[in-house]
Amino acid sequence: MSGLSARAGIGALIYSLLLLLPAASPKAATLSDQVKEQTSQSYLALEQLYYHLHTHPELSFHEEQTAKRMCAELAPLGFQITKQIGGHGFVAVLKNGEGPTLLIRTDLDALPVTEETGLPYASQVRTVNDIGIDVGVMHACGHDIHMTVFVGTAQLLAKLKDHWSGTLIMIGQPAEEKGAGAKAMLEDGLFERFPLPDYCLALHVNAGLPAGTIGYVPGYALANVESVDITMRGVGGHGAWPHTTKDPIVMAAQTIMALQTIVSREIPPTEAAVVTVGSIHGGAKHNIIPNEVKLQLTLRSYTDEVRQKTVASIERIVRGMAIAAGVPDDKLPTVTRSDQFTPSTYNDPALTKRIANVFLNTFEADQVTQMEPVMGGEDFGRYGRTKHKRPISIFWLGAAPPSVLQAAAESNQPPPSLHSSKFYPLPKPTILTGVRAMTHAAIDLLSPTTK
Ligand code: ZN
Ligand code: ZN
Repeated sequence: MSGLSARAGIGALIYSLLLLLPAASPKAATLSDQVKEQTSQSYLALEQLYYHLHTHPELSFHEEQTAKRMCAELAPLGFQITKQIGGHGFVAVLKNGEGPTLLIRTDLDALPVTEETGLPYASQVRTVNDIGIDVGVMHACGHDIHMTVFVGTAQLLAKLKDHWSGTLIMIGQPAEEKGAGAKAMLEDGLFERFPLPDYCLALHVNAGLPAGTIGYVPGYALANVESVDITMRGVGGHGAWPHTTKDPIVMAAQTIMALQTIVSREIPPTEAAVVTVGSIHGGAKHNIIPNEVKLQLTLRSYTDEVRQKTVASIERIVRGMAIAAGVPDDKLPTVTRSDQFTPSTYNDPALTKRIANVFLNTFEADQVTQMEPVMGGEDFGRYGRTKHKRPISIFWLGAAPPSVLQAAAESNQPPPSLHSSKFYPLPKPTILTGVRAMTHAAIDLLSPTTK
């Protein structure tokens, strides 16, 4: 150093300082390119996995072979795997130094739907369900895409360990379609037996968004889903002697109309709620007034207050209708709430905006959209509702083939929805986008400086 001129010394100093500066853009570009390239390289294997999962669907709480296959995919990547958490659920943990803990969840189950897509890899599976009915089985909610993206993400994060630091927990959750799997895993000690996550992420395919795009929803994203059964009881008799009866069919008809006033007259207009009577059964013959009529309802809302208010209003209206009809006290109606309740999903706004920024930096602006909440249900919300109050976020992964969206637009009909026997995602752009999005989101959150 002593032999150098002062000018050369300053130049060398500036040069050394430049070397020390974090080269933000080139490094980000490098990582982004690396993720893109490696995702493309692993695509063919992921596609095979997708076809396998699609052709081997299993119903809720019966995901034995699916979980086995998923664990076999994760084990060689260095994850520590614990099986049979809340049924066929599994927890895979990859520790990589100091830093935050991130949980990524996929669901595992399929639906009792007979596939009618006509695809060469359409599911042919049939099974006998829990109540003894022979049903077709299909991944009509796209959980096979979720699992494929999950494996692709696990592979990339295992390869790119130099780019993140912390603990990655990847869970396979059973029985999402029954709204029961998240609860089962939490009750089996998910947050006690394994590291407590600082953040929880998931994704869900979207049948109305084009494949290769992403949607995010800060705040309430999906609804409280509650099933209610009502039995209106009366006093049956001959159809020609109605005055000697208490007719539950008339009572049920009046009740259905009165229930319409809950959303229109009792819930504040700025709050969202749905009360749908999805089934009504009563009677056996033209000239017999039956003893009872059964109604099945689905209720949707976002807040717990609206949920409780809706149920209380139904109980009051149903009882009031029976009293107005003069039903004896011992035949007042019954209202039962199903235990298959799914609470609403509240996407932590700060976490959601953070991952949305990651997506906007990774993809083209027209590939990433902020979306409105929907009244569908997802039990992922439960991970944010424990006493630990962990921030969670689930984002939409566009899956619709452009040809399907175009045909829908031309015929002025909506495209086949999730759970439809005709719904199918376009695998390649959906899987590639999902893996890149989840990998980048994970790397951003698993940064030791931003906990
Ligand atoms: Zn579903
Ligand atoms: Zn689903």
